[in-house]
Amino acid sequence: MDNPGVGKTELFRHNTVIRAEYSFVKELNSHACQTAVERTLRAINRFYDNCKKSPRAERTPLIKGGRGDGYPRFKHNTRSVEYKVSGWKLSKNKKYITFTDQKHIGTLKLIGSRDINYYQPEQIKRVRIVKRADGYYVQFSIKLDPRDTVKPLKPSQKAIGIDVGLKEFYVDSCGGILSNPKFYRQAEKQLNRANRQKSVKFKGGQKPSRNYLKAKARYALKHLKVSRQREEFVKRVALRLIQSNDLIVCEDLNVKGLVKNRRLAKSISDAAWSKFRQWLEYFGDKYGKIVIAVPPHYTTQICSNCGNKVKKSLSTRTHICNCGYVADRDENAAINILQLGLSRVGRTLTNAWGDLSSSLIDENLSGYDGSLNQESPCL
Ligand SMILES: [Zn+2]
Repeated sequence: MDNPGVGKTELFRHNTVIRAEYSFVKELNSHACQTAVERTLRAINRFYDNCKKSPRAERTPLIKGGRGDGYPRFKHNTRSVEYKVSGWKLSKNKKYITFTDQKHIGTLKLIGSRDINYYQPEQIKRVRIVKRADGYYVQFSIKLDPRDTVKPLKPSQKAIGIDVGLKEFYVDSCGGILSNPKFYRQAEKQLNRANRQKSVKFKGGQKPSRNYLKAKARYALKHLKVSRQREEFVKRVALRLIQSNDLIVCEDLNVKGLVKNRRLAKSISDAAWSKFRQWLEYFGDKYGKIVIAVPPHYTTQICSNCGNKVKKSLSTRTHICNCGYVADRDENAAINILQLGLSRVGRTLTNAWGDLSSSLIDENLSGYDGSLNQESPCL
């Protein structure tokens, strides 16, 4: 904030300086410091990218504890440590991992369903220890050639447009509806209770009491459960859509902007649209399907049958057009979204054709008498 234009070199230099100041850092593996710098650098670069994308006035100012897309936020509590290829060692049967830095973590037994036996030790490029509310996790970043692992899916010969919403999770262009499971709303009572108990146990003072810490852990655990339910749900839905369609068009929603609406913030976060799109794009990339996001403007108003604008308020659930077309509001929107997406793909294709045809014409012209080719710069 004080020194704009700080880059990689300066950050690494600064890291060396503060490393000497804090004793706990000395005990860490040197790669852990490096990855911390890399992480900071990513945040700074993202900030500069945002600056380029939108002028200052459009960005939200940095509020204490606020989210805005202003300056990168400072981390008070880092819950993870990242190692590269040193500082850890897997046992022969890959059931145990030993951390060899000065932190005395020692040997840990790996439990869980993912089998890392399948991979060669050289393929593991990074190892991360992450603290979650229910324990410690070890994440392995593995370098893979995607062609080795994924079988391409059979083309389904289908394209679909989806309109996400609060009541229904989505309505698709074929009229299919998937209702919203609302995990947060379901758990809200329990969450609030846990939160109240946490406050009751809070006595102030220097050291938090054991009971407060216990209540805090219980509260965190409940939140973790909700976020996992959400993630599993959107992941499953995204995979199913990718498996049964070749082209999926969704809206390019400004979720950050929408969440600012206080009345809807919880419900919107609960719907987890951003996560959903991330998974769609991930699976699309993995299985070779096309995922397109289109701007959502007017998709609810325009008649998907004739293209006329039919104004309607939020409460109007049915689209009724003068042309005689009647449909569910969201279904009509989903069809518009699909059409928008298709026209985008179509446009890139026509551009390709445009280039091709003009070059063909040039070819043909050059075969003619030069007088026809007056515009050609070489003449
Ligand atoms: Zn119409």
